[in-house]
Amino acid sequence: MIFDFEMIDSFYRQLDSRILEIRKKLKRPLTLSEKILFSHVYPQNQTRSVSRGIDYVDFMPDRVAMQDATAQMAILQFMMAGKETTAVPTSVHCDHLILAHSGAVADLKSAGIVNKEVYEFLSSACNKYDIGFWKPGAGIIHQIVLENYAFPGGMMIGTDSHTPNAGGLGMIAIGVGGADAVDVLAGMGWELKFPKIIGIKLTGKLSGWSSAKDIILKISGLLTVKGGTGNIIEYFGEGAESLSCTGKATICNMGAETGATCSIFDFDNSMTEYLSATGRKEVADLALKNKNHLSADGEVYADPAKYYDQYIEINLSELEPYINGPYTPDLATPISQMKNEVLKNKWPIEVEVGLIGSCTNSSYEDISRAASVVKDALSKKLVAKSEFTINPGSEQIRLIAERDGFLELFRKIGGEVFANACGPCIGQWTRKDSDNNKINTIIHSFNRNFAKRNDANPNTYAFVASPEIVTAIALSGQLTFNPITDTLINADGKAVQLSEPEGLNLPPDGFGSVDSGYQKPVHGQNGEEIIIATGSERLQLLSPFKEWDGEDFLSLPLLIKAKGKCTTDHISMAGFWLKYRGHLENISENYMIGAVNYFNDKTNSILNQLSGSYETVPRTARAYRDSGSGSIVAGEENFGEGSSREHAAMEPRYLGVKAVLVKSFARIHETNLKKQGVLTLTFQNEDDYNKIEESDKVDITGLSGFSAGKPLTISLTHSNGTKEKFQVNHSYNESQIEWFKAGSALNIIRKSNKKNV
Ligand code: SF4
Repeated sequence: MIFDFEMIDSFYRQLDSRILEIRKKLKRPLTLSEKILFSHVYPQNQTRSVSRGIDYVDFMPDRVAMQDATAQMAILQFMMAGKETTAVPTSVHCDHLILAHSGAVADLKSAGIVNKEVYEFLSSACNKYDIGFWKPGAGIIHQIVLENYAFPGGMMIGTDSHTPNAGGLGMIAIGVGGADAVDVLAGMGWELKFPKIIGIKLTGKLSGWSSAKDIILKISGLLTVKGGTGNIIEYFGEGAESLSCTGKATICNMGAETGATCSIFDFDNSMTEYLSATGRKEVADLALKNKNHLSADGEVYADPAKYYDQYIEINLSELEPYINGPYTPDLATPISQMKNEVLKNKWPIEVEVGLIGSCTNSSYEDISRAASVVKDALSKKLVAKSEFTINPGSEQIRLIAERDGFLELFRKIGGEVFANACGPCIGQWTRKDSDNNKINTIIHSFNRNFAKRNDANPNTYAFVASPEIVTAIALSGQLTFNPITDTLINADGKAVQLSEPEGLNLPPDGFGSVDSGYQKPVHGQNGEEIIIATGSERLQLLSPFKEWDGEDFLSLPLLIKAKGKCTTDHISMAGFWLKYRGHLENISENYMIGAVNYFNDKTNSILNQLSGSYETVPRTARAYRDSGSGSIVAGEENFGEGSSREHAAMEPRYLGVKAVLVKSFARIHETNLKKQGVLTLTFQNEDDYNKIEESDKVDITGLSGFSAGKPLTISLTHSNGTKEKFQVNHSYNESQIEWFKAGSALNIIRKSNKKNV
């Protein structure tokens, strides 16, 4: 079955005329990203020339995907909009809430019990609003989207930061918060600052131990975790053409680690092959007919530096495998230098666990290459020195990996196959070693390795590498092992070297037919009541946030001045807290508990100016909220990087935080805060961060004249009575200012819907 074929067919039928219209208006060569973005401008808006990185544009994406942890809050918000169905095809994927512990069968059974009320809520809401529902065990959102929904030239948003995975099939796919999803679900234009575009030309060809993963590991090091912010990364060149479609998806997936809005590849033969292999030959045929619209114009490729905002070239023939980490995905080390780095930095050498799979790296190509390493190791009488686990990306992939003998090979070296779900990638992992503070090293093929991300242990050094390198290192048990140059001692005491991995892009016997775990919605056929258990601790209906009262914010106590990296994992932790994603009051108990307090270097211990004692962040925020003052949060650079988690924005709003003032924001988090009605501000002079003291009261003035591009003023009153004043910037445009005034973007949707009824 091809999902939503009519929508895809209609898109391609109109593409020619849309591109013609864009060309008439813009009169210049176009990059691929521009072609796709301009052909998805919200229908009520005219195509116009825009300044990349400056102008905001309303878009109308073709579809929305949501994972179970974020879908709860998005649907709870959508329920407040009062609509009958979603405005565009939408899907929900049950992948994040499954705890990895005892293997796929037992873990799925236990997830069915533990998450019963959430799954019932999502399933019933999907029926009511005509949303495709992928049951627990069906697979991870991005793998399912790639296998079923993505199409070249399309545009989608997803309530997960690795939504860009679909760029491997030539789609502009952007990770957003639930509030953005609600805009699209409700048929409103979805606003985005028109991204800048980074062009990356790939030349040469991968060989040996190098893989697509190493391309993005290298690029993460080049761009760092914020170098892609506000940009689309567009790949092209003969090196790009030589990559499999799923290899491209891996690169696009992990492009999120650079902060990029999304990443995309030109339409090429690898996409045709993948679409056909996954039962969508008709889509491939339509894309082929429109091939000239599914790549940048020739002039762009002839002089890329002229047309892209930033231009990079990478020769794949010279690329060696990388290992990134620990604690950040942009600390990129070529494998030839890893030993030196490990010794120099005293990173723990012994690797306790190697983990492969996740949405990033569980294609047939990935699994077959990792399996070839295991097969070779077994033939050379080697055993794995580290624990080894596999998270298949979907039931489809798990089934063919089983059928083709790969999973059996992994089991032979003690590998454990977890459910087709996120598991250890998002902290949903109960490790066999229960010491949660032990200093140890793990290596995985996922995309993120922030502190506590995988197992909640702050002392776990997590490294990221390709599945084949993870497998080789798990066999050796040593972080310093380089399979290209080093040997291992086998059961006979002989030194042997691993052969280079081999794999196939696509399964030679096809994907086969499988009970994929899809539930077709029964919209319009009764049974449409949304189920929320009475007294639920997991789900709670929302109430609208209050409108702004028209006054400046005066005498706000400082809640916390966060020091250093403050990702959405620090702001709203995953792991244990995932279970409260549908209950704003309960999940708000994790607000900023991972952030480091500038004044004492501790987490979750801040001065409560009302009591004079050190208390937790959520408790102190509630005290300020209930006293009527509200509070303000300060932070450093790239505040809110990481997951698209809107809870990180709803929690401060719920807890009475009026403003967040930082050196810079990560894009998604800033938009999320704006949508929830929290004022987002940046220091004009970053050194003003140093002026903020622990007992400060903060005034934010100039709000009566709040307008685009006009700075606001901050006045600090220190505990000794002295005052300091400085200007702060904001990035609000006029319509975002309306969100602030209305109390949230959703308040505007609800009001306009009421008017239309
Ligand atoms: S990045 Fe990890 S947590 Fe996110 S969708 Fe992929 S597997 Fe799941």
